[in-house]
Amino acid sequence: MFYINAGAKSPGIHYTILNCILEKEHGKMKIKGLETYVATQRLETPFYFSQFGFSARQTCLVKVIAEDGSYGWGEGYGPASVIRAGIEFLAPLVIGEDPLHVEAIWSKMHLRSLDYARRGVLVAALSAIDIALWDLRGKLLGQPVSILLGGQRREKVKVYATGMYFVETEDLVGKLVEEAREYASQGFQALKMKIGLGVETDLRHAQALRQALGDDVELMVDANHAYSLAEAISFARQAAGLNISFFEEPVSPEDYEGYRELRQRSAIPIAGGECEYLLAGFRQLLSNRCVDIAQPDICAAGGLTETKRIATLASAFQTNLIPHSWGTGIAFAAGLHLVSTLDPVPGRLRMPEAMLEMDRSENPLRDKLTTPQFEVVDGRVAVPTAPGLGVDVDPDYLDEFCKDE
Ligand SMILES: [Mg+2]
Repeated sequence: MFYINAGAKSPGIHYTILNCILEKEHGKMKIKGLETYVATQRLETPFYFSQFGFSARQTCLVKVIAEDGSYGWGEGYGPASVIRAGIEFLAPLVIGEDPLHVEAIWSKMHLRSLDYARRGVLVAALSAIDIALWDLRGKLLGQPVSILLGGQRREKVKVYATGMYFVETEDLVGKLVEEAREYASQGFQALKMKIGLGVETDLRHAQALRQALGDDVELMVDANHAYSLAEAISFARQAAGLNISFFEEPVSPEDYEGYRELRQRSAIPIAGGECEYLLAGFRQLLSNRCVDIAQPDICAAGGLTETKRIATLASAFQTNLIPHSWGTGIAFAAGLHLVSTLDPVPGRLRMPEAMLEMDRSENPLRDKLTTPQFEVVDGRVAVPTAPGLGVDVDPDYLDEFCKDE
C-alpha cells in the first residue's frame, strides 16, 4: 500500500516529488520516491546546426531515492519538460521496487510503455530512470557501474571533441578552424565538426579543418541527416581524400535503404543511431547493414540496461559502438562506464580503441552542475572509480539552474 503525492514544491525550485509511505518489509530496501528537475541556462553565444538553433541548454534530471536516503541520478536526452512528464508517468511503477533489481524494473517500465513508445521521449524518460537505478545500485553495493556492467576492459576512455557548430559571423571558416585548433591544443586526438549547410560549403569547411589540423588529428563529420541520398553520395565521393574517420547521420534516420546504399558507395565509414531507440530499433539499423558505427544515446535509447544489449547486438554484426553523448556529467559518466566495458571489433592483439563523444559546445549545465569535472589527458578520460556513476549534483547550481521552472 502506498500513496503518491505529486506536484510538491520546495522554495525556488519547481520539481515534482512522487513520494510514498510503504509497509516495511524486513531486509528489503525499497525505492521511496523520484524527483525530477528541469535545468535551464541561456547561452552567451547562440549556435545552430543543420536542423535548428540553440539559445539555451536545458536537460531533465531524475533523482531516485531509496528508503535509507541513498539516491541515484539519471538524465534523459530530448525535450526536457516532455521527459519530465514521461518520468511522472513511469514513477508509480518504480516506487516500492527493490533498487537492486534494475533489469526487472526496466522490463516493467518497458512493458507499460511499449504500446505508446516504441521510440521517442517516453523511452528517454525510461532511460533516465534506468541510469539513476544503476547509479543507486552501485552505491548500495559499493561498486562502480563499470564493474556491475561486467568489468572494465580499460581504465581510460578515448574521447573525441564535438564542436564546430555554426554561429552568425562574417568568418565562419575562421571560427571553425580556431575552435578545432583549440581542441587539438587541449590534447584531443579526434574532433567532430558539423556539416549539413550544403555539399560545397561543407567540403570547404572540412578541407579548411583538415589543412589546419594536419593528418595527426582524427576528423569526423556530422550532417545531422541534412542530406538527400544523392548529396550524401556526392559529399562522400568528394571528401574521400580528407581522411575522415566517419560520416555521421548523412541521411534521414527513417531512410534505412538510403543508409544502406550510401554505405555501399562510400569509402568513408558511415555512423548513425542517435535518433534510434531500443534494441528492436538497432536491430533494424544493423540488420539492414546501414552503419559501420552504431551511436545509441544512453539517455534516450533505453538507458544503460538496453544500451549494453545494443552493444552486444552490434558486436554480433561486427559493428563498433561509439555512444552519442550530449548532456551533463551524468550522461557522460554513464558513457564512460559503458564504453570501458566494450570490446571493439574485430578482436586482435592491437585492437581499435573504444571511443566516446565529449561535447565541447557551450553548456553551462555540463560545466557546473556535476562534480567532479572530467579532465582530458592525452585525449582520454579516466573512468570514475567511486561507487555508482561516480558523479554527484551540486545542490547550489541545481537551485540556480532550476529557479525558473
Ligand atoms: Mg550527431
